[in-house]
Amino acid sequence: MSEHTLTVAGVAVDTRHWIGGRRVASAETFTDVSPIDGSVIGEISRGTALEAAAAVAAAKAAFPAWAATSRAERARILHAVADGVEKRIEDLSIVETTDNGALLRSHRRGVMPRVAHNFRFFADWLLKLEHEDFETRGHTNHVSWDPAGPSVLITPWNAPLMLATWKVAPALAAGNTVVLKPAEWSPLTASLLADIAAEAGLPAGVLNVVQGYGSEIGDALTSHPDVRRISFTGSVPTARRIAESAAGNLTPLSLELGGKSPLLVFADADLDLAVDLAVEQYDNAGQVCLAATRFLVEESVAEEFTRRFVEKAATLTQGDPRHETTDIGPNIHPRQLEKIDAFVQRALAAGARAVIGGHRKDTQYYAPTLLTDVAQDSEIVQEEVFGPVLTLQTFSTEEEAVRLANDTRFGLAATLATADAERAERVTAQLVAGTVWVNCFFVRDLQAPFGGSRHSGVGREGGTWSFDFYCDVKNTVTAPNGWKNHG
Ligand code: NAD
Repeated sequence: MSEHTLTVAGVAVDTRHWIGGRRVASAETFTDVSPIDGSVIGEISRGTALEAAAAVAAAKAAFPAWAATSRAERARILHAVADGVEKRIEDLSIVETTDNGALLRSHRRGVMPRVAHNFRFFADWLLKLEHEDFETRGHTNHVSWDPAGPSVLITPWNAPLMLATWKVAPALAAGNTVVLKPAEWSPLTASLLADIAAEAGLPAGVLNVVQGYGSEIGDALTSHPDVRRISFTGSVPTARRIAESAAGNLTPLSLELGGKSPLLVFADADLDLAVDLAVEQYDNAGQVCLAATRFLVEESVAEEFTRRFVEKAATLTQGDPRHETTDIGPNIHPRQLEKIDAFVQRALAAGARAVIGGHRKDTQYYAPTLLTDVAQDSEIVQEEVFGPVLTLQTFSTEEEAVRLANDTRFGLAATLATADAERAERVTAQLVAGTVWVNCFFVRDLQAPFGGSRHSGVGREGGTWSFDFYCDVKNTVTAPNGWKNHG
């Protein structure tokens, strides 16, 4: 085992970059810390413009051969990657939990199987990707999806491997080569993915992983002229920075950003279901971009909804995410906790009332919080907190509910609880959101378009939308009568 290998909960993890099929160390490192207890996990290679350039060069060199690889062979290798993920679900789960603090049981049963599914799904979708030919005055139009080139994929820490592979899988399926930059607060599983992909037979340079602070390595990746696609999941300020950096080369961007999504509870709703949906918003300690953090509840049922919510929230167990019975784990970093608490304290100072929570538990954990008496134009209603902090407002008409729901700069998702199908249809049609859930939450199918409106994002990924983004889509028009008259 090299001096660059860490043993994380019994699993060996290489802390170096993965560039052109080789492990590469940086001169400097950064410290990776576990959110579970603040303990140091180890030192990780701290990438600079040098490693960014090397990774893009490796992706560029590997591109022609990978792009020319048949769809069937690309799909076969992606399935082999999925097999490798499935064999290492235990390793990936415990390493991810140690690194980002999300629940071990979710990683084992939901997230890591889904990571494997990301590869299988896009491999299979590739094999059936086609657009029926069509005619124009006897000419045939044929649509094809050509690999676009090296793609830079930049991901956040709240669901590291899940969000990374939701980009890596379609990019590789499309025939692109990849430079993946995971978040500096959760660098480990991307390194394991590099091992798994190499064992699965993915050729050198097709997948590269660089580690480091976005502020130090980011610009060199996103401004690189050889990069043909950038897919980013993260915050709005970083997205702006990336868009500026990519502007020089007009590199196409897919941006999946933050949210401040509403949960609309109408008086006709099944209140128990509405409360179940509401309590789910504490999942992953509130660090979910899609979370419905603003409860908008019809006046006549607000008191009863709140009573049942408080009762249900009291049954949640907060603590070590490795324990089977834990419902809410830690937040990612003491800095994130400070940010969360600052939001809450400013809201309380502005007149909000904490129905539950409203304070930290210690340096790693924030008490699940519900705030009422919040104004629509207040910071706590308008800005993404990214912690276990929810707000509750009431409405008295459907029009008011829609107005409040749409009145932020975001448009990622919306959730409705109602027993009236016509109302659901009417309200859904008026909501600004990439995804609307009616009487359910977080049901995600990889063939569905996914993305946000307004400041929640640019573009859609999922199914064919992913291939539309990662490929240069081409239309070929062929003259009538075959080749007879055209020499
Ligand atoms: P962030 O923007 O701080 O960081 C995301 C990634 O960008 C990290 O890998 C970081 O190193 C990198 N980065 C930072 N500066 C960069 C730069 N100048 N150039 C290139 N890369 C740079 O976001 P975060 O705090 O890691 O994640 C939380 C945010 O992500 C929240 O806003 C959340 O809503 C959002 N998110 C969105 C989705 C979605 O699908 N819409 C999913 C999960 C998280």
